[in-house]
Amino acid sequence: RLHNTILELKGNIRVFCRVRPLLPDDSPCAEGKVVSYPTTTEALGRGIDLLQNGQKYPFTFDKVFTPDASQEDVFVEISQLVQSALDGYKVCIFAYGQTGSGKTYTMMGKPGNPEQKGLIPRSLEQIFQTRQSLLSQGWKYEMQVSMLEIYNETIRDLLSTNRDPSRTENGPSAKQYAIKHDANGNTLVSDLSIVDVHSTREVSFLLDQAATSRSVGKTQVNEQSSRSHFVFTLRISGINESTDQQVQGVLNLIDLAGSERLSKSGSTGDRLKETQAINKSLSSLSDVIFALAKKEDHVPFRNSKLTYLLQPCLGGDSKTLMFVNISPDPSSLGESLCSLRFASRVN
Ligand code: ADP
Ligand code: MG
Repeated sequence: RLHNTILELKGNIRVFCRVRPLLPDDSPCAEGKVVSYPTTTEALGRGIDLLQNGQKYPFTFDKVFTPDASQEDVFVEISQLVQSALDGYKVCIFAYGQTGSGKTYTMMGKPGNPEQKGLIPRSLEQIFQTRQSLLSQGWKYEMQVSMLEIYNETIRDLLSTNRDPSRTENGPSAKQYAIKHDANGNTLVSDLSIVDVHSTREVSFLLDQAATSRSVGKTQVNEQSSRSHFVFTLRISGINESTDQQVQGVLNLIDLAGSERLSKSGSTGDRLKETQAINKSLSSLSDVIFALAKKEDHVPFRNSKLTYLLQPCLGGDSKTLMFVNISPDPSSLGESLCSLRFASRVN
């Protein structure tokens, strides 16, 4: 380790709230008095108040990004965290929120718009740049990427070059993608593609491949991607040939399934199963982060695929950041309140 971090009371868990701008498709009355996003009255840049029927619901986070915050503004606040993966830390950055609140925008950004690229491409650029500049100090890094999706508590490999049979509409999964943890605290997923990467361009190519494989198999593309968790993992191993130091870091960037409550009564069959799977994994994630923050002895990692997969990268001296994405649209008020409550529980 290049440096030791003194753990604060709540450990290495941070929660940032980001409110996206109003969009043309939001409710027409959105400019009104129904919703009030970040006020900076309490602690500058940390408070957010939600106003509903004259009632004020105040929340405080480690940081609040108002709708005018650019992708660059956001990245500036997380670049150190990203950098720590090169120092050998295990890092998880999540985007949580209802569908349409800006999770994918925060993570990936807008395709084809360099100014609006999100924190995945920005993190990769920074990591590869730093790798280059550390060469002169004797550091050599190897990087590997994997990308998977968890849908209905089932893992799908997004970088598989074979047409994965599990992607067919109703067909059974041929591969099990069993999750194991080795003695060194690394996660191994059987059959999962792991690709050596040497440049940002190579990773961009893989991200495109993952986007393509996410969109085949089901007819309702957006529907499906908002109902699965996307997990991007970069494994970093560094060795310094002059000092013999070694580091093993991991950067996990996770675009979570939409957190919207779906009325149980309205859902049946596949839809109900999906809803239950999403509820289960999001509440497991909250339980795990809550237990870690409270330093409880028992942390229920095994309750969902997502938390079991990420177990080695949560807790200990690993670092976790959760974005809670919020829509300012009044019709989303109920969901926004749920998201803020979820996030303040883990904060
Ligand atoms: P989610 O992934 O949570 O479903 P998206 O990231 O797809 O939501 O965002 C929904 C829409 O809002 C997209 O059209 C996206 O480009 C836009 N959007 C989200 N956040 C921002 C932002 N901070 N600035 C500008 N547009 C945004
Ligand atoms: Mg999305």
